[in-house]
Amino acid sequence: MGLSFDVIVVGGGHAGCEAAAASARAGARTALITHNLETIGEMSCNPAIGGLGKGHLVREIDALDGIMARVADQAGIQFRMLNRSKGPAVWGPRAQIDRSLYRAAMQAELKKIENLELFAEAVEDLISAEDGSVRGVICASGAEYYATAVVITTGTFLKGVIHRGEERIPAGRVGEAPAIALSDRLYGMGLPMGRLKTGTPARLDATTIDWDVCEMQPADDEPIPFSFLTPQIDVPQISCGITYTNEKTHQIIAENLERSSVYSGAIAGRGPRYCPSIEDKIKRFADKSRHQIFLEPEGLEDDTVYPNGISTSLPEDVQAGFIRTIQGLEEVRIKQFGYAIEYDYVDPRALTSTLTVKGAKGLYLAGQINGTTGYEEAAAQGLVAGANAACEALDRPSITFDRAEAYIGVMIDDLVTRGVTEPYRMFTSRAEYRLALRSDNADQRLTLKGESVGLVGPERAAVFHVKHSTLQNARTELDSRTLTPKDASAQGWSVNQDGRRRSAMDYLAYPDIDIATVRAAFPDLPHWGEDIDRQVAIDAQYAGYIERQASEVAAMRRDESLKIPSTIDYGLVGGLSNEARSKLELARPETIGQASRIEGMTPGAITAVLGYIRQVGHRRSRRG
Ligand code: FAD
Repeated sequence: MGLSFDVIVVGGGHAGCEAAAASARAGARTALITHNLETIGEMSCNPAIGGLGKGHLVREIDALDGIMARVADQAGIQFRMLNRSKGPAVWGPRAQIDRSLYRAAMQAELKKIENLELFAEAVEDLISAEDGSVRGVICASGAEYYATAVVITTGTFLKGVIHRGEERIPAGRVGEAPAIALSDRLYGMGLPMGRLKTGTPARLDATTIDWDVCEMQPADDEPIPFSFLTPQIDVPQISCGITYTNEKTHQIIAENLERSSVYSGAIAGRGPRYCPSIEDKIKRFADKSRHQIFLEPEGLEDDTVYPNGISTSLPEDVQAGFIRTIQGLEEVRIKQFGYAIEYDYVDPRALTSTLTVKGAKGLYLAGQINGTTGYEEAAAQGLVAGANAACEALDRPSITFDRAEAYIGVMIDDLVTRGVTEPYRMFTSRAEYRLALRSDNADQRLTLKGESVGLVGPERAAVFHVKHSTLQNARTELDSRTLTPKDASAQGWSVNQDGRRRSAMDYLAYPDIDIATVRAAFPDLPHWGEDIDRQVAIDAQYAGYIERQASEVAAMRRDESLKIPSTIDYGLVGGLSNEARSKLELARPETIGQASRIEGMTPGAITAVLGYIRQVGHRRSRRG
């Protein structure tokens, strides 16, 4: 008999760390089992956290007291707020990360967590009870670990194969063995699985780059931390270089395309369209004479540079040839060549919105195994899977997020209702309620909910409640001060003379009226501090749009509350086309809302399902 826990998390990547931390925070005795404790928190690819859409996920993880944001704040060496020229709803907090600082901070963070034990083992099999529920794992060492719920977060490791030119190397990441037996076990359970791929560029020696001929991009003057708990960034900030490919680079790549693993047909799995390899870019954007490359240092004490923009699976000699045609890289030493990796994933339509596998009680999946790509997407799923695994073990209600609450809700809903045809990554355009789902207000949207389900610790709760009540007071004060349009004009404000008395909060929504202007008109307004001033100004800017969206959100929530029984037999639902029936069978949506978001689902099909549920419910209630 092996050790026994409430929850076991398999894998110490971004999903696994967040899953283990969430499970332990929720009060479950948790084991994190991963190949190697030293690689916990490893960034397999680009040394950066956040960005457009992804930065929102990091803030939401933080609002739920997750660890990614706090760790990134300890390791960020170039903080930049992306998209500043647009409205705050789509600003993207991003930081270049020092890989070794990140790993060390993540490992230290996990070691501090009560209820959490770490084990270095390779998990090869699952232990199932007679009813099919998953009860633990068996490791390559023969050790067995038992739990009420198991979260699998194995990233690119399931039957991972590295491709570089004609080379094929079975691996989960460069230098790390793949997970073969565990993948066989998931196939054996009948889970719908497929192959996806992603790629990484060569790594360069910083001391051999001619930085003088590159453009330099500095960090923001005042780095804005990811975490609502970090008062300021203390890590020294660096600049990144920018250079470009040229016609000579493109010519070498074009002449050798058939030697690229992707173009030779050796890789069956689909890769991310929006994060193409340099071969893809040359082929798809043949009219472009150059492509931008960011030269991103991997750390303060590390002379490795990540050339962002030239991921490739070309053979080593071709990589060396094309890289040295690039300005600034003519003499560069290549520390590690780029490669593509192909791996197994599970069709996420096999999951519910708690990330548990339908029909396999106690089994949860999170991260790249669900067909996503990116650290932030993985971490956000890890948090949800870990929290729900803990809820199952502790016999508490499950925790889910809807599309109007969080980007986390948007992502999970997209995955479980629509599945993936290529690695899924977050974009702000995926969120229909993005004016409400801002990175600045993630705490106001989520921390109270997180607290109510036991995910938020006392330190965050205390900080949050002070901010929350100050914000409430500020809004009340601003709502209570009013001016007629005539008085507003007397202040020099250009306002429609419609006779409507408006509040200071309303006036703050005008583009040329800021908080200082409002304070000048109402000198008795209390001072709440810069952060709160900034927040109320952003809230005021979006208040009108959000109010107008309220009826759409209410309709969406109404449809979400219409549950579809998990036992429904779509063969018995009259009036469904064969196509709609097979799509519904595949996704087995949990609610009418989810059903209506399945691609190609018609209003007629939804009415048919709704009618059938009502009819069956009615018959049952008459019998009852
Ligand atoms: P991972 O971070 O891969 O972690 C998996 C963990 O599980 C590891 O700790 C591993 O040791 C452990 N593990 C696996 N199997 C077992 C087992 N059987 N027993 C015990 N432990 C196990 N993302 C981007 O956004 N952009 C990119 O350009 C990009 N390129 C990439 C290129 C490469 C070559 C790779 C490998 C990944 C790339 N990614 C990219 C993806 C990014 O690295 C992942 O999305 C992210 O790391 C996924 O997190 P995860 O937690 O799901 O898995």
